[in-house]
Amino acid sequence: MINVLSVDVEEYYHATVFQEGTRGQARGAFGSRVEESMDRVLGLLADADVRATCFVLGEVAAAHPALVRKIVGEGHEVACHGQRHELVSRQSPAQFRADVRQAKELLEDITGALVMGYRAPGFSIGPEQGWAYEILLQEGFRYDSSLYPIFHDRYGDPNAPRFPHEVWRDGPEALIEFPIGTARVLGLNLPIGGGGYFRLLPLAVSRFGIRRVNAKDRRPVMFYFHPWELDPEQPRPRMPWRHRYRHYVGMRREEAKLSRLLRDVRFGTAQDALGLRDRAGSR
Ligand SMILES: [Zn+2]
Repeated sequence: MINVLSVDVEEYYHATVFQEGTRGQARGAFGSRVEESMDRVLGLLADADVRATCFVLGEVAAAHPALVRKIVGEGHEVACHGQRHELVSRQSPAQFRADVRQAKELLEDITGALVMGYRAPGFSIGPEQGWAYEILLQEGFRYDSSLYPIFHDRYGDPNAPRFPHEVWRDGPEALIEFPIGTARVLGLNLPIGGGGYFRLLPLAVSRFGIRRVNAKDRRPVMFYFHPWELDPEQPRPRMPWRHRYRHYVGMRREEAKLSRLLRDVRFGTAQDALGLRDRAGSR
């Protein structure tokens, strides 16, 4: 069973909690750290001999095209995290289409390969944003990974399907939704798919959960993290304590925990797990 390791390639200052906590401070106030933190990520993946799916933000790709080429050169899949890290829930359908089209074209120009996957900033495709799936399919995406089926104050839908499923179809073309991993324990969806929960909870929780889903449900788990989660030295501007805690908790242990997880659980790319192939051949 191949689980999916995914990396949302963005700056620490793109993170939704960081942006909300530092309200009023222009992004220009913060320096770029994504190349250094992605070097750590790529080193970790190379040491574990794991290929991952990297959902790269268009803004980051435009400023660091060599980083995107390096990701591809090391055998990882490049997918799309939108252009400007604007929540889908704050965009009109026309704005959303323009954002994903710009980012997808940019990434395909840099990599020379088809970009098949999309992940919304902040998992912001909820029940009110179902219109986004049709646009993603029309814009040439084959899968989306923007759903976290848990109960959470910012995102998520605990009643949504937990495993890959067709979410939109137009004739022979279909868009697959690959939700972030959860384990069903005592009637609740336990978050085992990474992010802040992985930093907050002991490693054993995620490891147990992923193994349980693989063995009991016989399904793959989508796991995600960000390069800035491996960068405890990043700036710490003033922000309310709740934002501070959520953004920075567990960062110093993140790299060692991830390295253990990559040894203990089998991971690959979303294209591998979904059996997707580039039908058009390389561009
Ligand atoms: Zn993001």
